[in-house]
Amino acid sequence: MAKESARELALMIKAGWRLVAFESFEEERALRTIEAAATACERSVINWSVASGLSNTNQGAGSFDEGVRAIAAVSEPALFVILDAHRVIDDLVAVRRLRDMLQMLAERKQIVVLLGPTIEVPAELAREVAHIELALPRAPELESLFKRAIESAPADLIDDAVKAALGLTSGEAMRVLRKSCTAADGLNTSAISLMIREKRQALRRTPSLAFHEQEAGLADIGGLDELKRWLAERRRAFGGEARSFGLPMPRGLLLLGVQGCGKSLSAKAVAQEWQFPLLRLDLAAAFGGGGQSPEAAIREATSVAESIAPAVLWIDEIEKGFAASGQDGHSSRVFGSFLTWLSEKKSPVFVVATANDVTQLPPELLRRGRFDELFFVDLPSHGERMEILSIHLRKRGRDPLQFDLDDLASQANRLSGAELEQVVAAALYTAFAEQRDVSYNDLSNAITETVPLYETYEEKIKELRDWARTRARSATIDAKAVNLFS
Ligand code: ATP
Repeated sequence: MAKESARELALMIKAGWRLVAFESFEEERALRTIEAAATACERSVINWSVASGLSNTNQGAGSFDEGVRAIAAVSEPALFVILDAHRVIDDLVAVRRLRDMLQMLAERKQIVVLLGPTIEVPAELAREVAHIELALPRAPELESLFKRAIESAPADLIDDAVKAALGLTSGEAMRVLRKSCTAADGLNTSAISLMIREKRQALRRTPSLAFHEQEAGLADIGGLDELKRWLAERRRAFGGEARSFGLPMPRGLLLLGVQGCGKSLSAKAVAQEWQFPLLRLDLAAAFGGGGQSPEAAIREATSVAESIAPAVLWIDEIEKGFAASGQDGHSSRVFGSFLTWLSEKKSPVFVVATANDVTQLPPELLRRGRFDELFFVDLPSHGERMEILSIHLRKRGRDPLQFDLDDLASQANRLSGAELEQVVAAALYTAFAEQRDVSYNDLSNAITETVPLYETYEEKIKELRDWARTRARSATIDAKAVNLFS
């Protein structure tokens, strides 16, 4: 990957670009890549930092403008790397000066590379700047790093270590490898387990991205048979066989529906069924600051997902994250670049987005080509309620056949999956307090005592249903579920 980026940068230099924005979270690795490109183009590399100025003369420290002036004083061909460019790029005087220098840079065979995790190029320079991004290291790059670090390790262990480290920067990967091998006395299976744990820690640098344990499978979901069938059909669609058959790479699903009816559960189940790692992108955290710009947070999340791919990227309540989109230019730009990524991504990252509120969904998100399918998840039908009750009774060690589920499901008309789970839990509490086992009556009483969300949100749920009728596919085969309250 780094080699590809070096080649791309060399091509940009040869094509005559004078300014390049190089985006990477890994300064050291990016600098090595830039060095390789510069060597290929016979340019020497001069770094600039606000602390030390130009690396060869120490001129130009203190501000970006001082740096640009110092660059203007160098006449031989060179490639200047502006470190921490994202911090200094809003210096208006420096930007103006840089613009005025473009012709001179060309004549002197000089290139200025702006290096930083994400770089917002000012509008005045936008057309003059080429963009390049250093992807996180993929398996072959990590493999050669690890092989160099640990000689004579069995190939299958190296393979496992590489898999465990995907998603980390090369520096992080090496640190995690060293630490785990030291703690486990060498590269062995317990070192690999430690690496997986360490990776979770390391990924905390992106507060908006979290690894989820694979906790639920399709068998844990009551109903939603149409959605389950769709997912089963696509299980093999990520392999090379599907590509040569002419199938496109699956992009993802948008699950729209009533609260507490299994949307999040389905996202988890996809990962479990396909045995893909599950990453959750928290848009509220991405937009909530925390030291990183939303652009950087989302870019990093998608690039981590791509480097771990095949993976499931779960985005809960996508409408809330992008609700701010219309309000300021900043978030709508973030949304725009996320949509472009969603439409153009080539790697097997399957996005599962969930939403409760259609009125807040930006229409662009629903356009063809973004998601493979839009499913509507309604309140469970009678049959589905039986299944959900049965799943949650079994989970708590009770035999569902001991209860008249048909009757309970009729009483639980209009309860959501989450509410049905609560019914089972409440019934168990009552029985436990009275020091006996749970009975039909406990469940029935718990149902009577539950005030369904439907009562509070009846209008909203009906609107959602109306909207979905013509636009989304029903996640359940049972048509009664959709017609129940119409
Ligand atoms: P929200 O929009 O509030 O996030 P959601 O549709 O994503 O709701 P989940 O988080 O998947 O709902 O559901 C909450 C819990 O309710 C689940 O963890 C599960 O225990 C239970 N549940 C909901 N629907 C089902 C279902 N169809 N089958 C089994 N359990 C369910």
